[in-house]
Amino acid sequence: MIGLLRDAGMEIVSDVHRADVVVVNTCSFIADAAQESVDAILDYADLRAEGRLRGLLVAGCLPQRYGVELMREIPEVDGIIGTGQFGRCVEALEDALGGKHPAFLETPGYLQPKRSPRVVTTPAHYAYLKVGEGCVNRCAYCIIPSLRGPVRSRPVEAVIEETEELVKRGMREAIVIAQDTTMYGADLYGAPSLAKLLRELALVEGLEWIRVMYAYPSRVDRELVELMASTPKIVKYLDLPMQHGSDRLLRAMNRHASRDQMIQVVGDLREHVPGIVIRTSLIVGFPGETDDDFDELLDFIKIIRPERAGVFKFSREEGTPAYDMPNQVPQEVADMRRKIAMEALKEISREYGQSRVGSLVRVIVDGPSEESELVVEARSFAEAPDVDGKIYIGDATLQPGQFADVRIEDASDYDFAANLVQGYHPHT
Ligand code: SF4
Repeated sequence: MIGLLRDAGMEIVSDVHRADVVVVNTCSFIADAAQESVDAILDYADLRAEGRLRGLLVAGCLPQRYGVELMREIPEVDGIIGTGQFGRCVEALEDALGGKHPAFLETPGYLQPKRSPRVVTTPAHYAYLKVGEGCVNRCAYCIIPSLRGPVRSRPVEAVIEETEELVKRGMREAIVIAQDTTMYGADLYGAPSLAKLLRELALVEGLEWIRVMYAYPSRVDRELVELMASTPKIVKYLDLPMQHGSDRLLRAMNRHASRDQMIQVVGDLREHVPGIVIRTSLIVGFPGETDDDFDELLDFIKIIRPERAGVFKFSREEGTPAYDMPNQVPQEVADMRRKIAMEALKEISREYGQSRVGSLVRVIVDGPSEESELVVEARSFAEAPDVDGKIYIGDATLQPGQFADVRIEDASDYDFAANLVQGYHPHT
């Protein structure tokens, strides 16, 4: 949207006080995210009511979910753009400035076109590559398939072309995302084809790291494992949302990977890709979750030992099958279970951190630390931006996007302190 607006002659500013129009791009997959989106809109609604903005548009999942109701509830909103209509953002903005109230909400069928004027909002040295849209998994707790529609993949050539362009602009790390990356290509090539895409990405000159997020456990096959093992550019890191460790609950969630299957997949990854870091996400408090189920989850955590993890409390979302399920778990119970699971995971993260002290690793520098001018923040293969910890290095001369070799000197629960080492060039 930023690229389209810029190409239409608009100036993009990051300071709201210099803006004529604000476009709020929203999330609404759980109540907390929707609330955060609404809070942001309300901040700008005040400016709009005071006449300090000429227009306020809301895009993405929130309007896709709540439709024109959103404009009724927050009358300062001039127009809405659903998840299928990002391509019409210029038209929406012009309509809004012309006093109309655009509401573009048709079926979510949007897919980033081959040549899109993309503006990257992350630092230049890394970018998210959205390789597809939509999901067919229909997990019982998830509203995303209704908001984003079925799987649509971007052709390999389109992704490669975008990657080459981003590399020219300084990208060194590409983070491959989609609602489910392991379904990539199923619609275009007759079968899931993530490995095919990764193979091509690895050939892009100047791209150093490829990081895969949101892989569905039962679709991590031997081909993908072997590719990760044999391709230095694919970092030894995999985000593999598992959600639970009790088969009874996994079935109720409509997840298509059993506990044993997931243990097997993680075992395969650990065997063939030594040193791999696994990130996962888990849900506690899903309807019907008993103490026994939760114990199974804790036991599962001990077997899988994910180095990185997030635990989420089940969010009861209207429009999902789980909304009407019996035996909803009381909030206090879910809170307690989340706390216990987080503690168990923190212990694993701490032990992993300690095991790295003294080791040598290659990092990419993100930039100066917020805490001290003398320190820079960096990440290794084991840290994805935003969600994982950081590696702090006491050398302020290092520049964003630069690679450096460091020795890990100290580890806290999630973060690390490291010193530069000369002459060490590992692949990861
Ligand atoms: S795989 Fe992810 S996006 Fe798809 S339905 Fe399940 S939770 Fe939602």
